[in-house]
Amino acid sequence: MKALVLTAPGRFSYEDRPEPVCGEQDVKVRVEAVCVCGSDVSAILGRNALFTYPRVLGHEVTGTVAAVGEAVQSVQQGDRVVLMPCISCGHCRACRKGKTNCCESLRLYGVKEDGGMQEYLCAPERNWLKLPTDMVPRTAAMIEPLTIGAHAVSRLSFGSGDRVLVIGAGPIGMSCAVSAAARGAGVMLADTNAARCAFCRSHFPFPAVNVLSKEYRQELENFTEGEMFDAVIDTTAAPASMNHAWEYLCHGGELLFVGIHNKDLCWNDLSFHMKEPALFTTRNSTRADFEKILSLIGAGQIEPERFITHTVAFDRAAEELPRWADLETGVYKGIIVF
Ligand SMILES: [Zn+2]
Ligand SMILES: [Zn+2]
Repeated sequence: MKALVLTAPGRFSYEDRPEPVCGEQDVKVRVEAVCVCGSDVSAILGRNALFTYPRVLGHEVTGTVAAVGEAVQSVQQGDRVVLMPCISCGHCRACRKGKTNCCESLRLYGVKEDGGMQEYLCAPERNWLKLPTDMVPRTAAMIEPLTIGAHAVSRLSFGSGDRVLVIGAGPIGMSCAVSAAARGAGVMLADTNAARCAFCRSHFPFPAVNVLSKEYRQELENFTEGEMFDAVIDTTAAPASMNHAWEYLCHGGELLFVGIHNKDLCWNDLSFHMKEPALFTTRNSTRADFEKILSLIGAGQIEPERFITHTVAFDRAAEELPRWADLETGVYKGIIVF
């Protein structure tokens, strides 16, 4: 079978590999579509500190079951499935509390193990979730990035009618926005990239404002009738944003960091403290988040295909993916189809 290997930053090559063989607990899946994540792009650019080469990328993976091990019960040959890419240990404190997304020794398919950019992927039964038979691969490959937003929002307790600001209007920001809206919140997006704001306004039912515009603060106040936001979700990973995100909260609000910054953050505690905000972080997602997104898609509350702007066939992905690393190409979410 063919596998697309990222051998070094910016360098892909196709390798011929033997097809994987199912162990007792394993499910072997013929891959049908893989969405490309921001973290894949940073691995391609050599900017992902957690990443090791060579690696087969791809953690946003869907396909059809080709074979199952003898002990497998939840799926059978021919079922459509989506990959749940977290590989958790099952016995650390976090795992025992059901927080498998932040396991102490967490690994991810497509990051620490070879992922979905190959014709077949074999993984344990617990890493696959069965899908409705009528769900097309383009929809199914978007489920994992949508679960990142579902998990992020599950950390917060804002309610219907509350106002939520999502800073960073990329696919992960939008994934948070659609889950917050599904809970009934009024959602506003903010980004420093004017073209991205325009894309969001034309493809999604949310206002998207430019952080760099003079009217930024005024637009936030107008949206919230001067009260500011019940929750602020910062997906930027940028300290210039994260150090100030709490300033957009109402008193008693909730601040959530989705993007990870690899150095110190700094702000004035007195002003922060006076608001009595709650501060959260979020990582990855759990099976419950996958089930939540499946039900929202089934109910028509989330339309995953709105995210996808670019499509490439698997055998042309090696030349196309490095181009998708350039924001100027207008890529919002790209997908590889097999
Ligand atoms: Zn991702
Ligand atoms: Zn664990």
